[in-house]
Amino acid sequence: MTSLLDPAIAQRIKAAVDAGFDAQLADTAALVAIPSTRGAESPAQDLMADLMRARGYAMDDWTIAMEDLKDLPDCGVIQHDFSRARTVVGTYHPPAVTGRSLILQGHCDVVPTGPLSMWETGPFTPVIKDGWMYGRGAADMKSGTIAALYALDAIRAAGLAPGGRIHLQSVIEEESTGVGALSTLQRGYRADCALLPEPTDQAFNGVCVGVIWFRLKVSGEPTHVAVAGEGSNAIRAAFNVIQALEGLERDWNERAKSDPYYGAMDHPINFNPGIIKGGDWASSVPAWCDIDCRIAVLPGWNVDDCRREIEACVAAAAKTHSFLANNPPRVEWSGYLSHGYALAPNPEIETLIQAAHEASSEQPFAHRYSTALNDARFYSLYYDIPAFCYGPHGEKIHGFNERVSLQSLRETTKAIALFIAGWCGVEALPAA
Ligand SMILES: [Zn+2]
Repeated sequence: MTSLLDPAIAQRIKAAVDAGFDAQLADTAALVAIPSTRGAESPAQDLMADLMRARGYAMDDWTIAMEDLKDLPDCGVIQHDFSRARTVVGTYHPPAVTGRSLILQGHCDVVPTGPLSMWETGPFTPVIKDGWMYGRGAADMKSGTIAALYALDAIRAAGLAPGGRIHLQSVIEEESTGVGALSTLQRGYRADCALLPEPTDQAFNGVCVGVIWFRLKVSGEPTHVAVAGEGSNAIRAAFNVIQALEGLERDWNERAKSDPYYGAMDHPINFNPGIIKGGDWASSVPAWCDIDCRIAVLPGWNVDDCRREIEACVAAAAKTHSFLANNPPRVEWSGYLSHGYALAPNPEIETLIQAAHEASSEQPFAHRYSTALNDARFYSLYYDIPAFCYGPHGEKIHGFNERVSLQSLRETTKAIALFIAGWCGVEALPAA
């Protein structure tokens, strides 16, 4: 291991993580127990604010105004009730500023559970079993958010004070637009580095795809199904459009083969028709079908150009269909409009997180390129703040029986604590 931190100090910090781990798990479970799906994040934000306030951090808790964000780069499209949307930031101020500043950001929103009958235990009834914590958001990413909080606790419990300003940021909307993270930047939060403890399997993740969300609005000609040939079935027509978009997905994966990060990866671009709604009656030919879709774009690809390609693909598919040719589907932007990003090589950050990792885990240090996106993009792309993800090992993320490995969580918490100590520097607190 590169010795960036005195081994005796590192040992004290790691011991403090161990000493606090039961309390950390209890707070993680309390956060996982809150069903903070989109639009319902407030109770989770209340808990995060309580936890940070109890630690004496300077609190900032505000309602997000889309008016303030709409002209910022990669601002997504909000289509749901956003009146209760909040961001919570707790700031640690050092006794005297001697080191670099840091943002630690987690998102408290989670994706829907899907049918409850497919879960072995309730998604919002966290259960610890065989070294795992189960529950929606246990991996993505409530355990990581709480790990950041406890990593800073461990430094202080070890009798040390970080020398740089640290913002602990709990945001919403990571899973649909990213405007929660964007709101912290609009509010003026800045630091020399940002660490997001997303579930990366303890790998260093400084590269991720971008994502575009869109809704296809396909129309049809309603008629009694007895004379179906006189009408046009919007649901069947939607299949044609989806097939055309699968062709676009193939083209983009072909293009990805020359990408410096994703070139060697099989199928990095994933297109997903994720929600389908349509029709009003089983015996009426449906006059409408809406499909919510997601597709990835690679770092360096221009989102506006990609949007035009999507529109052109849909328009071309419509021309081959008798009804759609004169009634083309509409494409509505319905969430993410996000570029991919790749952190510029940053030896200081990489050496430090590698050392922190190797001091905390037996697993070899690894780099990962993500085929999902995360909020780090805003920091790196538009605000010149180097940002990366590093977090615990999770499984079944966005699926049934989502879980996080407790051993990995413990190691991750140690690694984050050592990274904070290395990045911000630490000073011994005067004996109480
Ligand atoms: Zn996440």
